Amino acid sequence: MDLFNLEGKAALVTGGNGGIGLGMAQALARAGAKVAIAGRDAAKNAAAAKAVGGIPIAADVLDEKACRGMVAEAAERLGRLDILVNNAGINIRKRPEDYSLDEFRTVLDSNLTSAFVASQAVYPHMQKAGGGKIVNIGSMMSIFGASFVAAYGSSKGGIVQLTRALACAWAKDNIQVNSVLPGWIDTALTQRARKEIGGLHERVVARTPAGRWGTPEDMGGIAVFLCSRASDFITGTAIPIDGGYSVQGG
Ligand code: NDP
Repeated sequence: MDLFNLEGKAALVTGGNGGIGLGMAQALARAGAKVAIAGRDAAKNAAAAKAVGGIPIAADVLDEKACRGMVAEAAERLGRLDILVNNAGINIRKRPEDYSLDEFRTVLDSNLTSAFVASQAVYPHMQKAGGGKIVNIGSMMSIFGASFVAAYGSSKGGIVQLTRALACAWAKDNIQVNSVLPGWIDTALTQRARKEIGGLHERVVARTPAGRWGTPEDMGGIAVFLCSRASDFITGTAIPIDGGYSVQGG
């Protein structure tokens, strides 16, 4: 459908070499966008780029220079940049009293500061294109608290507020900025969490009205919607994609 057609658009997906980022990159490519996949692991980037028919870019978003270089390289190799998905992220699960400052900052910088830097770097390209779409990946921990997410939850709460600030600032440039809050999605990140936390798998299934974990493919529809003309009057939002997890009252 024309409303969702991304032909002629160019997209950069950070952390696009696996999990949620790959699910989104795949959907954007299927909707017609040219896609750049960025991550630290060159072999994973190459495999994912091959799978979606995109280009791989090796970059560590923790490094400001590398993060800006990633945006410049994507714009140069794709010829333009209309879409940025800030998806790269990590978690270090610890009780608040056990974090070193370095660990806390690493999570903040990986998940939040990198999204700010990449957005700042992409802004002139979107201005030049006459508009653009930025999608920031939050979490259920953008809404809820938990004992082991002092760093992760701070970064994901921050993502929602960063989204609102950018949305207000750049609406005049026809740039829409939204965040997506995934529920529990089956990826490398959560496979590790399931090993660390006994009973997590069953608790998630019981708490989620849909009665299952999400898949990276479940994230494709929202990516296409928020990156297409269909969402041109939607900006600054935080949309849960969670099988009902965040509205379960009892
Ligand atoms: P994965 O671990 O599968 O993917 C994380 C991605 O981020 C990888 O592609 C990784 O690539 C990349 N990445 C991590 N650190 C960096 C870095 N410093 N520079 C560049 N790339 C980096 O996890 P998910 O797919 O689950 O997570 C993706 C996003 O979704 C994260 O922001 C996460 O917080 C969020 N999320 C996930 C949920 C879930 O249930 N899975 C729920 C809510 C939010 P590489 O290692 O090659 O650098």
